[in-house]
Amino acid sequence: MQKVRVRYAPSPTGLLHIGNARTALFNYLFARHYGGDFIIRIEDTDVARNVKNGEASQFKYLKWLGINWDESPDKPGAFGPYRQLERLAIYQDYANQLLERGLAYKEYRENSEKYAIRFKVPMGEVYAFSDLVRGDLSFESKEVEDWIIMKDNGIPTYNFAVVIDDHLMEITHVFRGEEHITNTPKQIMVYRAFDWEPPLFGHMTIIVNEKKKKLSKRDKDVVQFISEYADMGYLPEAIFNFIALLGWSPPTNKEILSHDEMIEQFDTKRLTKAPSMFDKEKLAFINSKYIKALDVETLARLAKPYLEKASIAIPSEDWLKLLAELFQDRMTHIGEIVTLYHAFFHDDFKLTDEAYQFLVEQKSLTLIETFKNLLEQSDMSVASIEQAIKQTGKDTETKGKALWMGLRIASTGDMHGPSLPVALCLLGRERVLSRLNDVIKGLRGIIS
Ligand code: GLU
Repeated sequence: MQKVRVRYAPSPTGLLHIGNARTALFNYLFARHYGGDFIIRIEDTDVARNVKNGEASQFKYLKWLGINWDESPDKPGAFGPYRQLERLAIYQDYANQLLERGLAYKEYRENSEKYAIRFKVPMGEVYAFSDLVRGDLSFESKEVEDWIIMKDNGIPTYNFAVVIDDHLMEITHVFRGEEHITNTPKQIMVYRAFDWEPPLFGHMTIIVNEKKKKLSKRDKDVVQFISEYADMGYLPEAIFNFIALLGWSPPTNKEILSHDEMIEQFDTKRLTKAPSMFDKEKLAFINSKYIKALDVETLARLAKPYLEKASIAIPSEDWLKLLAELFQDRMTHIGEIVTLYHAFFHDDFKLTDEAYQFLVEQKSLTLIETFKNLLEQSDMSVASIEQAIKQTGKDTETKGKALWMGLRIASTGDMHGPSLPVALCLLGRERVLSRLNDVIKGLRGIIS
């Protein structure tokens, strides 16, 4: 088999979008699966639409996702240059060959020496190809009008440049969005004009939102730029995993896969024909799985900038680690630590009726008093708090829910929550004791 060479060919017209990232990622997985080359080519011929930093954003966030490549403008290989605007002479040369052979013609602009070049679509041809996702597709040449291959400013159009480049760069497979299906016959006719072998094409299905509508960049309900996910504290491995499932399904039920597992399992036969839904809950679920798998040190390091940005004082690295540990199981993205922090360290300590009722029914007064006395003696470390909880249980002959939920309500106001010793250590002696006192007073009021 010929060496696999695939490319991702973004136009630098904006930031790296989830749809582009998927195209890059599928090409990348395919290349790595077959030990082939993955090339990045910048298709910058739509000059008016190019944006500053468009190219830089592509590279920055592909790298962030953990995608690496073998050739690109900043990593030239034997097939450069890798930006189309640097290849204008090449396109001109091939367009001239078509002119000479009568397969294209000049179209002069009014009162001007300038001309565009149009491809002369042959009559009676059929352009059939077997799409790696869609199966057999076929178009007739009568469906296509003569089309411009070179504009009068010497810049080629996409459908022409893409063929010259894919051929010269020895691209074997092209995975791209399904909006390019109708471009494919135009591209095949250029391959035929030069008697070149076209690559195999695979057109990936559209991504739809939860209302089954095609995801549009204007869809405000869905965060769509990779940079935005990075800013919110989504983990690159999780985003990679999530995107890989947008139009591809692994052969086993296991959907949380490592980078290497995805490379190993990637198979074009498992590219889906149905539109892939951008399921926000699934993304949150996958990301929370990856967060849970982090070690606490890493999580603390990743969480720190979010806390600092929110002007939350970090008394010590140990405190930070405890905080990270406390919320590790509850975060869907790391930036959420700020909201969780505020919900937890609020100063208006009030019990809901249900929580208060629990204390009354369980006759928790003695329990809470005992705990308070023990805590007063403790150094408020996680271990000593844990010890105090157990001791309280023994002294008052209370166990299980009556013990743990009773103490949790009295000290945090919540009926459920993260590790109680860690939570109380973070809340600190003063806050906890004052809350316990309030509850004790309240319960005494009831009792007397
Ligand atoms: N520059 C084109 C795009 O961004 C590439 C299409 C292709 O892969 O052929 O849609």
